[in-house]
Amino acid sequence: MSRLVMKFGGTSVADLERIRNAARHVKREVDAGNEVAVVVSAMAGETNRLVSLCREASLMHDAREYDSVVASGEQVTSGLMAIVLQSMGVDARSWLGWQIPLRTDAAHSVARIADIDCRALIERMGRQQVAVVAGFQGLAPDNRVATLGRGGSDTSAVALAAALGAERCDIYTDVDGVYTTDPRIVAGARRLPKVAFEEMLEMASLGAKVLQVRSVELAMVHGVRTFVRSSFDDPDAPQTGPGNLPVGTLICDEDEIVEKQLVTGIAYSRDEAKITLRRVEDRPGVAAAIFGALSDAAINVDMIVQNVSEDGRTTDITFTVTTADYERALHLIENLRTQVKMESVTGSADVAKVSVIGIGMRSHAGVAAEAFKALAARGINIQLITTSEIKISILIDAAYTELAVRTLHSIYDLDKT
Ligand code: ADP
Ligand code: ASP
Ligand code: MG
Repeated sequence: MSRLVMKFGGTSVADLERIRNAARHVKREVDAGNEVAVVVSAMAGETNRLVSLCREASLMHDAREYDSVVASGEQVTSGLMAIVLQSMGVDARSWLGWQIPLRTDAAHSVARIADIDCRALIERMGRQQVAVVAGFQGLAPDNRVATLGRGGSDTSAVALAAALGAERCDIYTDVDGVYTTDPRIVAGARRLPKVAFEEMLEMASLGAKVLQVRSVELAMVHGVRTFVRSSFDDPDAPQTGPGNLPVGTLICDEDEIVEKQLVTGIAYSRDEAKITLRRVEDRPGVAAAIFGALSDAAINVDMIVQNVSEDGRTTDITFTVTTADYERALHLIENLRTQVKMESVTGSADVAKVSVIGIGMRSHAGVAAEAFKALAARGINIQLITTSEIKISILIDAAYTELAVRTLHSIYDLDKT
């Protein structure tokens, strides 16, 4: 008998019929003798609706009240899932974050999990009661509800799996695994049977929203075997395929992957904006003043490029931020012009970042050159480049996002054969 965490995302609990289908997956695992904790998201579209209501109520809303509003979506689905399970003869009860308690830090609306006290859950699960946990929420130090950032139910699930010492964390979603790129953009994308933690971390951070970044970090740190699979599969179908797992993608240690590819996947993000400062005075402390001010305002800077200008006395600096931070960052730089001299500040939110990811790149040269050549052949201009050991990111005009993703997907032989 083993412990299992099963997480169902928004589309998998979008209505009662889907909740019933998800519950049949749960019943199958309970009948097989597993101790099960289920983590649910809000019904598809519900969190967006709640976020919009908060914005409509006031643009400058209190983050603690925002949390109280948006966490309600998961309260509904956890209760409904418990009711449906009970109606199928499965003992179950719902748990809100504060009831467990799942404690977070104080960063309302983007909180991180600090600690999960699993004693009550373990005791009930040991008596064959399914624990249905409301994802995305916890209890902050101020004794108020906190939420974990969009997509946070993945993180609730992985953290719970780590705390429970679960054998596996199954992430049930609307695709049957992690693909070489977003299957909604490239029809020829292939499902990957296994992805290394490190690669998945890059893919998630660079835009593949199939898993929240923080959930992959936790899975990597705690060695949680995380299995991404479809909730639309027949719950009663045989559960073992090749490698003793059904169809899906296992996120696991690099050592478990026998066939290593040069490139594993292509990710993209349209949530990017670029800011360029021209002819900034070139003296020690200037970069510190600019990026220090952005960091004090909690604005995350991603790509940075600095060029020395022709006269050698000034420099051009370009960097990227998320679209949500774009206006604020521009405003902040404008204010900084009293301290740091610069000729102009310009920016654009019409940019996208496309990334090539693969642990195989560590030991191979030429991957980047091939990407640049292919993009050039399609007339796609490269605005910025950053690289790490296992990825290359390229900033381009947003209008070319899909073309760039498809182009890169085909040149590294990722298309389905
Ligand atoms: P859930 O509601 O179950 O949490 P999400 O919408 O958050 O589901 O994540 C699943 C979606 O992620 C898929 O429908 C797919 O469009 C998108 N996605 C982006 N990149 C990938 C990828 N590389 N592999 C699989 N899905 C991806
Ligand atoms: N319901 C939350 C969201 O839409 C959390 C999640 O689905 O993971 O972001
Ligand atoms: Mg999600």
